[in-house]
Amino acid sequence: MEWIDTHSHLYSTEFEGHVSELVERARAASVNRIITLGVTGETNRLSLIHAETYDCVYAAVGWQPQDLDTLGDAMELSPAQVEELRTQAQHPKTVAIGEIGLDYFRLPRVETDEVRKIKERQRRVFLQHLELAAELGLPCCIHQRGEGTFQDCVELMKPYVGRIKAVFHCFVGSVAEAQTYFDMGCLVSLTGIVTFKKAEELRETVRCLPADKLMVETDCPFLAPEPHFRQLCEPAYVVHTGNRVAGILGLKPEEFADLTTQTARKFFHKLK
Ligand SMILES: [Zn+2]
Repeated sequence: MEWIDTHSHLYSTEFEGHVSELVERARAASVNRIITLGVTGETNRLSLIHAETYDCVYAAVGWQPQDLDTLGDAMELSPAQVEELRTQAQHPKTVAIGEIGLDYFRLPRVETDEVRKIKERQRRVFLQHLELAAELGLPCCIHQRGEGTFQDCVELMKPYVGRIKAVFHCFVGSVAEAQTYFDMGCLVSLTGIVTFKKAEELRETVRCLPADKLMVETDCPFLAPEPHFRQLCEPAYVVHTGNRVAGILGLKPEEFADLTTQTARKFFHKLK
């Protein structure tokens, strides 16, 4: 049996000095591959260092919508930042463009000029990544959170349907939303949220989803699944999420582990 943690952030300060132990514990738990996703220029570089250090670790590079403050006044990535991203994306151990997307969750509900500007910058940076993914033939890992982001993501991605593969990570949406993504050729991936006591509605949704369109992830250091709720999350815990999803879908854990690992290997085609 083999699992893959398709979405983690190993460079997080919470893990500093402990990454080799995390990798060891993941391996002991049959989590044989870990993908770590950068969210800024700096964390993209750190992700590649981890990928170069550990055989089982692979990287994804991108600028996450919540971390665009580091761009200062700029409304999009500079040519130099795009060039660095292009070089990093061509690294043999970079398997995807991500974490990218749209996040309006923490923005004030009143549409001031400032809010409009933040959203516009997120959309422009997202498009820069989609262009790069199309150019390089790499899949994308997408973060989509907050009112209006579903519609905006679908709209922005329409011209890329058939040209790029994408996964919507940490999926907590409706069956209809998942279906829209599947119709665009995308996948969704599930975090520890699916194990939370209060997540009955999400479990009802997952019951209706096709097992071969799903991947599992930790998004560590956040969202530790039961029985580690509210603890620091780590890649080994993806097994708890996987087992729970298997149960929801009426599959044996080993069946779902095989299926989701095959799906991930096909999706992240550079994964060895
Ligand atoms: Zn993430």
